[in-house]
Amino acid sequence: MRIEILGCSATIGGNRRTTSLLVDGDTLVDAGSGVGELDLDGLLAIRRVFLTHAHLDHSGFLPLLADAGAGRRSGPLPVWALPETIAALEQHMFNGVLWPDYTIRPSPAAPYLTFHPLRVGEPVAADGKTVTPLPARHSIPAVGFALQGSGGGLAFSGDTTYCPEFWEALKGIPELRAVMVETTFLNAQRQEAVLAGHTTPALLARGLAHLRGRPEILITHLEAGHEDQTLAEIGSAVSDFAVTQARRGQILSL
Ligand SMILES: [Zn+2]
Ligand SMILES: [Zn+2]
Repeated sequence: MRIEILGCSATIGGNRRTTSLLVDGDTLVDAGSGVGELDLDGLLAIRRVFLTHAHLDHSGFLPLLADAGAGRRSGPLPVWALPETIAALEQHMFNGVLWPDYTIRPSPAAPYLTFHPLRVGEPVAADGKTVTPLPARHSIPAVGFALQGSGGGLAFSGDTTYCPEFWEALKGIPELRAVMVETTFLNAQRQEAVLAGHTTPALLARGLAHLRGRPEILITHLEAGHEDQTLAEIGSAVSDFAVTQARRGQILSL
């Protein structure tokens, strides 16, 4: 698998792009502003999209992605998400007001986009790899994902606070090579983090304690302006893992 990090920030500003991962050029995990970095050929090469949850920093570029391929794809763009996420996007995004309802446009028989419900733990095959939703605890229904290819596995938390079920699920991933995990807030913001469904460095350390192996740890979704301070707190809280900040443009080969 070749995983290109198109965006991994909690917000925009300067070089920051919001969450979007491109897997093998054909599978998109989240459609934040990072996906806007692809050229038209890159956008048209996307054959499926998986969404962790409905928040705009993870879904906001989906309408534009569908639009960029409108009429140029051989069929609809399949979008996989939790039923609650699909309901939110149908009601608030593809509702004929904020954006055309591409699930029935240009025609119900040949729409630009189709939604497919995910269930936690049930893998979806995706051109030689599998994408399996993992448990998460966020302010709205959300999942992480396990990406499994022939060269090993990568887990991505999406947005979540400390979720023991997420960390326990990682034990079942064969050859887990890397974990991309969010750490949005500082330790002093713990209450806010738990309420909003996000992780602090101390909560990250609590999660990592579940792991038996030592996969590479990549930190995502750092709050803008606090990146260095958060990473310093992670450095103090976590000692026995190789931890780095995930970077836009970074490519992981598994
Ligand atoms: Zn979120
Ligand atoms: Zn987010």
